[in-house]
Amino acid sequence: MLEIKEYVLNKKVDISKKLSQVAGKPDIAIIQVGDVEASNKYVKNKIKDCNECGIACALFKFDENISEDKLLEAIDYLNNHPTVVGFIVQLPLPWHIDEQKVMSKISPEKDLDGFNKLSKTVPATPLGIYNYLKDMHFDFEGKNAVIIGRSDIVGKPMAKLLLKENMNTTVLHSKTSDTDKRYYLKNADLIIVATGHLETLNNTYEFKKTAIIFDVGINVDEQGKLQGDCERNLPVAFQSPVPGGVGLLTRVALMENVLKLLNIC
Ligand code: NDP
Repeated sequence: MLEIKEYVLNKKVDISKKLSQVAGKPDIAIIQVGDVEASNKYVKNKIKDCNECGIACALFKFDENISEDKLLEAIDYLNNHPTVVGFIVQLPLPWHIDEQKVMSKISPEKDLDGFNKLSKTVPATPLGIYNYLKDMHFDFEGKNAVIIGRSDIVGKPMAKLLLKENMNTTVLHSKTSDTDKRYYLKNADLIIVATGHLETLNNTYEFKKTAIIFDVGINVDEQGKLQGDCERNLPVAFQSPVPGGVGLLTRVALMENVLKLLNIC
């Protein structure tokens, strides 16, 4: 497996080459509400990725007290904008705004995040993992995949992508017993962990030596350090690091979603 950082750099070069063949820089937009530090960081990174890939990204940053109606108006504006190819609403939104209502207002044709079921884009986290595996020529067919977590933005779309590749795909969740979890894990070739809980996997579990683990989780430990959902250095062939792993794959997949909306890939 190519190191994720190197893979992502190469991928960005590919994307900018593809985009240099279209006339002008494509326009995308990010809607951000409030001034949450983590969101500021994610938005800054997305703008940086856009700059590196040759995409023009406009930020619409609103006060945290913006009304739901005003926010929906802003989405309508971008839905109907003649040059904006696609846009993102940075989550989470303040408590007084119905996230579901906002996300379903985004036109499927402009849905960069792929959260709308009618969109042709796929949510960036599962897409990023899938693209990386594909590019590394991972042999999917007939192999055992275990996904821990069944959210609409990670677990479920991940399962759909792996089923499409004929993997034997098992999705575990918070109601899965520890005994069953151990049973499935010890036969798994590919493990995707997205629970948001430290040590969802640790070295008390048995793994195939050849197993590959993608750790999606982002947690902050007691020392304030970023940690994934898995204990580090599990006895497997490959475990994605946190930070510097799935987060990078997610970011580059978002850029690939721009190509998808432009019908370039
Ligand atoms: P959600 O909270 O929406 O879903 C978590 C899922 O994990 C649920 O299906 C839940 O089960 C399951 N779960 C929770 N605890 C356990 C457990 N102990 N054992 C098994 N399953 C469990 O989270 P997301 O999918 O949105 O995100 C998951 C993590 O990934 C978070 O840390 C998030 O920050 C991170 N993330 C990182 C990204 C990146 O770019 N690196 C992108 C997206 C997310 P149930 O359905 O039964 O409640």
